[in-house]
Amino acid sequence: MTGTLILTKQCNLRCRYCFETHENVFMTEETALAAVDLLTGDDQPQGGISFFGGEPLLRKELIYRCVERVRTLYPAKQFTYNMTTNGLLLDEEFLTFARDNAIKIALSHDGLMSRVNRLYPDGRDCLALLDEKLALLMHYQPNTFIMATLSADYVEQAAESVISLYEKGISQVNLALDSRPEAGWDDDSMDELGRQLRLIADYVFAAFREGKQISFNGFDEKIRSITQQKSCHVCHLGYRKLYIDWDGAIYPCIQFGGLAAFCIGDVTTGIDEETRKSIHRRSLVKPSFCGDCALKERCVNDCACLNYQQCGDMGEVSPEQCAFQRVLIETADELARRMIEQDEEQFIKRYLK
Ligand code: SF4
Ligand code: SF4
Repeated sequence: MTGTLILTKQCNLRCRYCFETHENVFMTEETALAAVDLLTGDDQPQGGISFFGGEPLLRKELIYRCVERVRTLYPAKQFTYNMTTNGLLLDEEFLTFARDNAIKIALSHDGLMSRVNRLYPDGRDCLALLDEKLALLMHYQPNTFIMATLSADYVEQAAESVISLYEKGISQVNLALDSRPEAGWDDDSMDELGRQLRLIADYVFAAFREGKQISFNGFDEKIRSITQQKSCHVCHLGYRKLYIDWDGAIYPCIQFGGLAAFCIGDVTTGIDEETRKSIHRRSLVKPSFCGDCALKERCVNDCACLNYQQCGDMGEVSPEQCAFQRVLIETADELARRMIEQDEEQFIKRYLK
């Protein structure tokens, strides 16, 4: 079993698109260790923990304690660790610890858009310090994975921002849309998003032509859904991952945190299987308007968490998500066609093997 531990809801930033409440609530050591025991105590040889927040590095000591617990009590277990962070509190000590314990760090960074989106509570932007921390992180983890978020207001900066990350030596970028209901996506911003994705595809293609290995997660996933028949379906609600909130309550996904109707247990009492099954069953209802859409198998229309966040219903996909999926698939397919024409052998090596 893998689990995401919400170490706190507090954060040292106030990003414009953040859906977090920033409450001053913190997971206690007792709860964290009970969560570790729950995730490691089964008879599976493997497992994993993701450290999440708010900002998880506000609780560095707790991360150290969790890893130490796994190492001392469950030495035979193959365990993976991940952390998603805004990076501002990264330092040599933590990065050495992360290296020694194979903690993979994903950094939230919006490239140039960080200037307008990733702000301190007093409104200042954090880009200068963020870039400093990015360089430090890349020293320890050269294949750093970047998670960027795109807000509708700044959609015209998307390509420039993503490219600025590749230019810093980043090789893997994921771009997610600000998916709050009030995010303000409309036909015009969606059209612009299509244009921006095509500019990113041009950059990825130029790198491919030069034999450079860079990855734009959205394109790669859609291309592999054809070449390797890899499903783009992300949701196995409550079964693939557990989200353990700061107070020990367990939810099937992060968007459901704090919603009593979606609570499937607690670190002290364990998982309520009936509730887990019932929520999972309800999440299997496919969005009605997808009908016989030919893109169904390559679309993330079954992401119950995202659907719930955007539509208030696990079984309904929002128009903007549909538009995003369509333009992403169309752009990825066009990119794949150009790559094959350019160098079929390299394309096969990259996407079929
Ligand atoms: S870093 Fe993450 S948790 Fe913190 S304000 Fe930004 S989006 Fe929210
Ligand atoms: S592209 Fe739109 S209609 Fe087609 S499966 Fe995805 S969400 Fe449904």
